Amino acid sequence: MDTDRYKELARNLDRNDPLARFRSRFFHGDENLIYLDGNSLGRLPLQTADRLEKIVRIQWGERLIRSWNEHWLSLNRRIAAKIAELIGAHADEVMIGDSTSVNLYKLAFGALAAAGERKTIITDDLNFPSDLYILQGLVSRHFPQKQLRIMKSADGIGVDTGTVAAHLDADTALLTLSHVAYKSGYMYDMHEITRLAHRQNALVLWDLSHAAGAVPLDMHGSGADMAVGCTYKYLNGGPGSPAFLYVRKEIQKRVANPIQGWFGHSRPFDFSAGYVPPDTADKYAAGTPGILSLAAVETGVDLLLEAGMDEVRKKSLGLSVFFLDQLNEFAEEAGFIPGFPAESGKRGSHISLRHPEGYRISRALIAPQDIQVPVIPDFRPPDNIRLGFCPLYTSYADVYTAAERLKQIVSDKSYLRYRQRQDEVP
Ligand SMILES: *Cc1c(COP(=O)(O)O)cnc(C)c1O
Repeated sequence: MDTDRYKELARNLDRNDPLARFRSRFFHGDENLIYLDGNSLGRLPLQTADRLEKIVRIQWGERLIRSWNEHWLSLNRRIAAKIAELIGAHADEVMIGDSTSVNLYKLAFGALAAAGERKTIITDDLNFPSDLYILQGLVSRHFPQKQLRIMKSADGIGVDTGTVAAHLDADTALLTLSHVAYKSGYMYDMHEITRLAHRQNALVLWDLSHAAGAVPLDMHGSGADMAVGCTYKYLNGGPGSPAFLYVRKEIQKRVANPIQGWFGHSRPFDFSAGYVPPDTADKYAAGTPGILSLAAVETGVDLLLEAGMDEVRKKSLGLSVFFLDQLNEFAEEAGFIPGFPAESGKRGSHISLRHPEGYRISRALIAPQDIQVPVIPDFRPPDNIRLGFCPLYTSYADVYTAAERLKQIVSDKSYLRYRQRQDEVP
């Protein structure tokens, strides 16, 4: 199909898009900027900016310490309940606070301590490096008798269900995976994998960082035991906004919090000397929440709940399929290797294109030296250009232009004008 046909198609798809109205609820500093990195840092919801301004000036500035009772003490409960709704959990199974890494540490520690003699921790080489570091540290410092087994992906994209099944046995203490892989966008079948682990009585801990707000989740329906996830990606909570965790009600008694801080106490403001955890996921909190970044999470979650995750998923796949259609014939000849699952049902909301010149191509997209519009994807070494499709603010027209820019940069080799990789945050 020729370029003009795609342009026309994009216009029609946008006109009939039930989520199109959400775009104007986000801040757009530069209307021309095409942002395809919401899987790393989501856009700013307009209402978040207003809310934060009020919280800073009125709640902190004027009301000072009185705001703890007036607003702040109830904030984490309220937002945790909304995240619970978004991921198919009950309100008392979700805690919001700390970072994803810290929450993973707490839950993996709690799960391993509860695993008795079982020795193996299973994960894969597609997992986020921080997750692997934390597991390595837990084994070497606290559980030297246990062993980390890292499943290898044959194609660098995914790990099939049969391979996971083959690794599970009666010695498995914990299976922990990213539901959607950060680089390839590969999505595990959460229901099936959880079922296989439970057949061996092993606990399962999912990292939902690239899944929450990107794909519909049903933590209860899947039977999953535990999860962690971040809120600054598809939930649009802002840089470093607090992470969340989920622990299924029935196993909360078994899985203790290794950081027994006062905010994880049943009555923190009694200031009593002995630790008594509450009967809810609040026991996985530790210290005082960062109120400003916590408050920044709420609007992003509200917007997703209002849109509905089924609609979000429909458009997410619509966007990635439209993008790939446009690249179809061009991609291979231009030297791109698909770094994402071919089957759309097996991917999250981002894709990864591999190219030996991936870094310079992504620089050329981000910082055009001519009048072209900037397109922001991100780059993950060694050769992955990641493109995130966020249905609440990404239009089909954005995707059309991004694909055209990509074709142009590779065809005219304008990426050769850019330096090789040096930046800290690629
Ligand atoms: C983004 C991401 C994280 C982030 O961890 P932080 O501790 O919040 O920085 C963790 N795990 C995965 C899979 C991620 O994609």
